[in-house]
Amino acid sequence: MTKHIFVTGGVVSSLGKGLTSASIGLLLERRGLTVRMQKLDPYINVDPGTMSPYQHGEVYVLDDGSETDLDLGHYERFTSSPLSRKSNYTTGRIYQSVIEKERRGEYLGATVQVVPHVTDEIKSAVLNLAEPGVDVVITELGGTVGDIEGQPFLEAIRQIPLEIGKQNCLFIHLTLVPYLKAAGEAKTKPTQHSVGQLRQIGIQPDILIVRTERALGREHTDKIALFCNVEKNAVIEEVDKEFSIYEVPLGLVEHRLDRLIIDKLGLPLGELRMDDWRKLMQRIRQPEQEVTIAVVGKYIDHFDAYKSIYEALDHAGFAHSARVLIKRIEAEEVERQSPEALLKGVDGILVPGGFGKRGVEGKVQAIEFARQCEIPFFGICLGMQCAVIEFARHVLGLKEANSSEFDKHSPDPVICLLEDQKTVTEKGGTMRLGAQPCRLREGTLTAAAYGSTEISERHRHRYEFNPQYRQEFEANGMIAAGLSPNGQLVEVVEIPDHPWFVAVQYHPEFKSKPHQPQPLFAGFVQAALARHQQRAHQTL
Ligand code: GLN
Repeated sequence: MTKHIFVTGGVVSSLGKGLTSASIGLLLERRGLTVRMQKLDPYINVDPGTMSPYQHGEVYVLDDGSETDLDLGHYERFTSSPLSRKSNYTTGRIYQSVIEKERRGEYLGATVQVVPHVTDEIKSAVLNLAEPGVDVVITELGGTVGDIEGQPFLEAIRQIPLEIGKQNCLFIHLTLVPYLKAAGEAKTKPTQHSVGQLRQIGIQPDILIVRTERALGREHTDKIALFCNVEKNAVIEEVDKEFSIYEVPLGLVEHRLDRLIIDKLGLPLGELRMDDWRKLMQRIRQPEQEVTIAVVGKYIDHFDAYKSIYEALDHAGFAHSARVLIKRIEAEEVERQSPEALLKGVDGILVPGGFGKRGVEGKVQAIEFARQCEIPFFGICLGMQCAVIEFARHVLGLKEANSSEFDKHSPDPVICLLEDQKTVTEKGGTMRLGAQPCRLREGTLTAAAYGSTEISERHRHRYEFNPQYRQEFEANGMIAAGLSPNGQLVEVVEIPDHPWFVAVQYHPEFKSKPHQPQPLFAGFVQAALARHQQRAHQTL
């Protein structure tokens, strides 16, 4: 029988519920259990694909092409749980399917209501992940207890123990215990209120994880246990981590969270295998070298907008025992000042993906600077398209070259709409999405980095390299290093006459793990380190 863990959050948002859920998944896997991960998001968008990064942060793309919440990125980085469309549901998606059923007449004349029809739909989304061979399904509920839109989800998960047995379910609630400097004290009242709200709905948490800036000690955790009706040993503190998010699971092990969950669910207690993770932590804590990478983007002031890119850069650093210092640069600022002013002294330049015209000229200028000054450059999706535009303008002399996304009347649309996008009118879920195979050209930096010429990476775009210009680019020094298997779509470009200039139409950042960096990120950071050392040598 598959067991179910539900992770809810209270007091404030951004408590790191996703990270904590992912860490729980990791610990259970490291005890030999098979885990599935899932996130329920109470907002009404069918998926986050149509939301601005300012609203939502990054949209995380899965192999099957679903556009999902960025917490799924944590799940993939921490666990080996396979993720799919079944791993992320929103209110919009739940209602969409209820309404479609109603239109098909499947409710046989019933009045369709939130309880039981919407809650049944939510329950089946959760229970669907239970299958033979799966020991535990971890379902994280987005938002904060008390949100109006979260109510049907809480009601649905409240009903699940009645259906599958109390002994098969575990409720974990994550809250914040703030430290008030003025009072010199940690305050437990918001946690008490938040648990009170959960209990009003009929959910009694089995385990409380309290996020705190400083260690609390027994006095506080015992008090929380008493007021929240939770066993003393089931109040776990999660103290803020100084170095890295990858320390979170180790902190939870110290508080024996893994054993507690296994005991409470009656699961077999396998040996905890964390040696490689501990070694990774050592490498993270004591880096031997440092490298500075500029990320030139348009949502730079939003921490979550390029989440997976920042993580993938870190992973590449771990592999080289290097600390990657990320200099976040607003593309429009490059236009206002100059590339020299902002980029001088960096060891590598990365231009990430994006949509819309704002900041594009700044990105093009940053790429010109990287190309001319022989600074390692990595372009991703829009970053690749900008690299193509830059090369067309400044090397091929096509002064008005552009993407037809930004200039419909450009005489040289070196980036143009993909053929099967031309008839698309709806915005949601209609891009070229998900895993696509790609064939790499032998002898390229890209093929060397992957150690293979057959790869698969995830995509999310509408525009592509215009094949009419391919010969002209190749003849002048920018080559197509990767193509779709039918040879039609250019997926990777490189400049062989440059220390490291690689730009890809796909999103390699979605397949990087802390102990298994994505090959191009690893290659890019290695090239940046080489430049760093070379320059240090020159100044000696
Ligand atoms: N806006 C570009 C396109 O649609 C790039 C997309 C991206 O960077 N994800 O093709």
